[in-house]
Amino acid sequence: MSSEIEGGTYVVLDPRFKTCISDERVERLWTGTNFSEGPAWFPAGRYLVWSDVLRGNKMMRWDETDGSVSVFREPSNFSNGNTVDLQGRLVTCEHLSRSVTRTEHDGKITTIASHFQGKRFNSPNDVVVKSDGSIWFSDPTYGIDSDNEGAKASPEIDGCHVYRVDPGTGVVKQMTVDMVRPNGLAFSPDESILYIADTGVTHVKNGPQHIRRFRVGAEGALSGGEVFAVSSNGLFDGFRVDAQGRIWTSAGDGIHCIEPDGTLIGKILIPEPVGNLTFGGPKRNRLLICATTSLYGVHVNATGASR
Ligand code: MG
Repeated sequence: MSSEIEGGTYVVLDPRFKTCISDERVERLWTGTNFSEGPAWFPAGRYLVWSDVLRGNKMMRWDETDGSVSVFREPSNFSNGNTVDLQGRLVTCEHLSRSVTRTEHDGKITTIASHFQGKRFNSPNDVVVKSDGSIWFSDPTYGIDSDNEGAKASPEIDGCHVYRVDPGTGVVKQMTVDMVRPNGLAFSPDESILYIADTGVTHVKNGPQHIRRFRVGAEGALSGGEVFAVSSNGLFDGFRVDAQGRIWTSAGDGIHCIEPDGTLIGKILIPEPVGNLTFGGPKRNRLLICATTSLYGVHVNATGASR
């Protein structure tokens, strides 16, 4: 595979990546978090909400109209992943409460899921809403491993899994059985595939640092689960999918762009390890990147499909 660095920001590994990027330099929009995660874009308000999960225990808000940043919620129950549901409401994974919540239009916070078969979750990490309204989230142990991003506690549930909350009944179902530390997740544009990152190498020597690919069947049942892409630099934590089905994922050296066939076609280098990203802006073509202490932004020639 040939490697070519263009302008120090973009690494083109496959000609297909050239059509995905502009010549815009990556911009640091703000700095001041310990570990930024969980970006969620609100199109109507033109703002981004994200989490400072490591000792920060707060959520921030970046306003695209004037570039200002303010505290959105503090304390945040050590929030981590966020997304926006079909009605435009904020859905949040909380390490401290070990639950997934929804912020209603009137500001009230509703618990969506806190237990499975009578046991508390470990610490919900990342979340996505499918077009049928079902809410899918991962439940690794990072929020109970220490007091740094939650409260140290013993797991009640055996293992770390991905769960689905039924949009009608609210019933929570376990969807995976063999992941080590499931983390970011996103559907393909037609929702026939669910990609799930496993960052298990943080706990298991030579453990997973990859994204797996599951086929989504009736009632959301998952099958397959083959390894789709292995990170060559740091962890694949959170990621998003664009309208062409490409995966734009966090990694240690920035953002990796992966074709649906699994080929890593290019990178956008970021000066700090990236935890997560989302597509924002009026055309959903501006990558908003949570990278450790800072929020970065860059326009690309791709349109976000997943929220
Ligand atoms: Mg995560």
